[in-house]
Amino acid sequence: MAFNVQEIRNDFPILQREVNGKPLVYLDNAATAQKPQAVIDCIVDYYSTYNANIHRGVHTLSQEATDAYEAARKSVQEHFNIKHDHEVIFTAGTTHGINLVANGFTGFLSEGDEIIVSALEHHSNIVPWQMLCERTGVQLKVIPIDEKGVLVLSEYEKLLSENTKLVFVNHISNALGTINPIAKIIEMAHQQGAAVLVDGAQACSHIKPDLQALDVDFYVTSAHKMCGPTGVGMLYGKETWLNKLPPYQGGGEMIAEVTFEKTTYAGLPHKFEAGTPNIAGGIAFGAAIDYLNTIGFDQIEAHEHELLTYATEQLTAIEGLKIYGTGVDKTSVISFNIEGIHPYDIGTIVDKLGIAVRTGHHCAQPIMDYYKIPGTVRASFAFYNTKEEVDALVAAVKKAKTMLT
Ligand code: PMP
Repeated sequence: MAFNVQEIRNDFPILQREVNGKPLVYLDNAATAQKPQAVIDCIVDYYSTYNANIHRGVHTLSQEATDAYEAARKSVQEHFNIKHDHEVIFTAGTTHGINLVANGFTGFLSEGDEIIVSALEHHSNIVPWQMLCERTGVQLKVIPIDEKGVLVLSEYEKLLSENTKLVFVNHISNALGTINPIAKIIEMAHQQGAAVLVDGAQACSHIKPDLQALDVDFYVTSAHKMCGPTGVGMLYGKETWLNKLPPYQGGGEMIAEVTFEKTTYAGLPHKFEAGTPNIAGGIAFGAAIDYLNTIGFDQIEAHEHELLTYATEQLTAIEGLKIYGTGVDKTSVISFNIEGIHPYDIGTIVDKLGIAVRTGHHCAQPIMDYYKIPGTVRASFAFYNTKEEVDALVAAVKKAKTMLT
C-alpha cells in the first residue's frame, strides 16, 4: 500500500476534532497514541456481539471470545517473532510487566549480586528494581549517559561483572528519543551470564523488534503506545525464564488444582494471567498490530524520520532553543527548552493554539537532573502527523517565545 498520510488521517476520528477553536495537532504520541477506527470498532464489536468470559465456558459466546483473545496472542507472537505463543503474557501494560519480572527475581538474588539500569530510564523501569534491591540487598548500578543523551557503553562494560545478574534498559528513551544499542547491550550482558529485560514501551510504535534475533530474555510493552487501548500490554519472556519465575498474582485462571493443603499452578501463559483479563483490550491489541502492519513499519519509519529531520531543522533555527538528546540514532521525539522560559508556559500557550505537547520531566527525573533542568517541552510525532503540523508547532513556539520574553 502506498503511504498517503491524508488517507491515514481519515482512519483516526479524533484527528478531525478542534481544540480551542483550532484543528487539533496531536504531538503527544510518546505519552499515548491515537486509535484508528479499526481498533475502536473491534472493541465495540466485542461488547456488542460476543462479550463473555474466556477459557472457562463451553457456550458459544465464551468460545468465540476465547478464540479472538488467543488469536490476538498469536498476532503478538508473529509480530515480534516470538518462538512460542505461550511466551506471550498479556499484562496491564509495561509497568505491570516490569513489576512482574522484578517481583519474580526476589527469590533468585541475594546480597553481593548486582543489577544494572541505564540513566535513560522511565521511572517504571527504575522504581520496581529499587524495591527489589530493598527486598534482597542487591546493589543497583547505573550506565551513565553523555551530553548527547547516548549511553556510554565503555562505562557499561566496566559495570558488568560475574556479580551482575540482570540488566534492564529501554529500547528507546521516552524523554529524549534515543535509540539504545540493545543488541550490543544484550550480547555484553549474556557474556557475563546476566539476563536482560528491555522496556519497549517507546519502541514498538516506531519499529518492529525481532525478539528471537535479539536473544533478549524479557521484553515488555504497552498496547496504548501502538494505537491499541490502554490497560493492556505484553510481557515476552523466554520459556526457560517464565518456567523458573514464580507467579506474580494468585487467583482464578492461573491454577492447575486447588485444595486447602496445596495449589499447583497452570502452565504458561496462564500461570501469569490470574483473574479475568482485559479481554476486549487484548483482542483490540491484536487489531492495532494488524493495523500498523497494514501500513508497514518501513513506511512508518521513513515518514517519521522525515518529520523528525524537518522539525529539528525548523526548531533549531529558533534562537535560544536547545534540543536535548541529539544522538544520531533517535526516533521522532524532540525534547527542548527555550532559554529563560519554563517549559510549562510554552506548553500552555501552544495548547491554546490547538497543539498538544507534553511538558515536565516525562517520568524520567534522573535525565532532567543530568541536564540540570526541571523539565522539557516534548513534541513526539507519529506516522499520522504531517509537515503542516510541524509548521503549526514551529509557529506556535515562536509565538509563545514572543509572548513570554
Ligand atoms: N517505559 C517507557 C519508556 C515509557 O515511555 C512508558 C510510558 N510513558 C512506560 C515505561 C510505562 O508504560 P505504561 O504507563 O503503559 O505502563
